[in-house]
Amino acid sequence: MYLLNDKIRELQPYEPLEGNYPIRLDANESFLSVPSNVALKMVEAFTGSTFHRYPDPMAKDVCAAFAAYYGISPQNVTAGNGSDELISVLLTGFLMKGDTVLTLTPDFSMYRFYSSMTEVKCLELTKRPDLTIDVDELISVANQNNAKAIVFSNPCNPTSLGIPREEVRRLLRSVEALVILDEAYMDFWNQSLLDEVNDFSNLVVLRTCSKALGLAALRLGFAVANETLTKAIRSIKSPYNVNTVTQNVAAVVLSEPSVLDAATKTLVNSRQELQSELLRVAQPYANAVQVYESCTNFVLLKLSNAQQVYAALLQRGIAVRCMGSYLRITAGSPAENTALIAAIEDILRQVVPS
Ligand SMILES: *Cc1c(COP(=O)(O)O)cnc(C)c1O
Repeated sequence: MYLLNDKIRELQPYEPLEGNYPIRLDANESFLSVPSNVALKMVEAFTGSTFHRYPDPMAKDVCAAFAAYYGISPQNVTAGNGSDELISVLLTGFLMKGDTVLTLTPDFSMYRFYSSMTEVKCLELTKRPDLTIDVDELISVANQNNAKAIVFSNPCNPTSLGIPREEVRRLLRSVEALVILDEAYMDFWNQSLLDEVNDFSNLVVLRTCSKALGLAALRLGFAVANETLTKAIRSIKSPYNVNTVTQNVAAVVLSEPSVLDAATKTLVNSRQELQSELLRVAQPYANAVQVYESCTNFVLLKLSNAQQVYAALLQRGIAVRCMGSYLRITAGSPAENTALIAAIEDILRQVVPS
């Protein structure tokens, strides 16, 4: 009889929350759909796609549109089937049997998952109790353990906190390891190293179209690195990793800088609104509820009764993400934020002693 190996025997398929929740604030997606004039161009891009041929393996047009929007060179850009695929490709290709990868906790769970699939040793450095990163400690743990790669998100999902780019530069200069810097949320902040990849031999920046750019359905991410690393990344990815429809449709959207800028601004405003309202409703419960200062499109709360509050929100048709004693709440439309705030205010009154 065939037996599954130890690596995969206990694994369960990734299942996002199922069920009918009218308000979904659990996956950090954009709440904005594309404007109808852009949607029309997307339809044309779909119709104009050549379906009986394989996609362009280098995804040239969409990489060029991405590079133009961010003011960088397309020679530094590789497209992936979501940045998730790129995390997997980088860990599989740049690490060898017996190597160590270093990540942080709490951080994006996929780093650990893809490390375990690659069968490399994954070290997790625990963040400070206030969820900030001790960069000196990160450097010394990386060097002491001869880490071959360091992967983390900045700003971080789920903490919503970021470290200034000077700290990341210091890390880059102090380690031999490849630094995989996941900037999935950097559209909402201003500490990107995207335009400095040529200054470092060991930097790969990951970006995604799933958050600020509002294209989670298309599955598209980018790895940005110097030309030597880029050549290696292009050589280890699977050739036709990004389908033609995604390439063509995303190229249309990435060529609309004013639409993207406006959307990002709207999302940041929504998060500021959500954050200040959460601070207001948390105020009477200062000992039980903590609201973190976000530089992303979501807000993190720490509260003793997180599970109870989570369940009560679900009961009211509002889905957020619950992780231990934390709730991660994506900024939504004004109406969604208002409904969430009213619900939380009500629930806290019932479950948290003030
Ligand atoms: C959402 C997210 C991504 C994006 O993944 P895609 O595969 O591009 O959708 C990457 N990293 C982090 C930390 C995220 O939260």
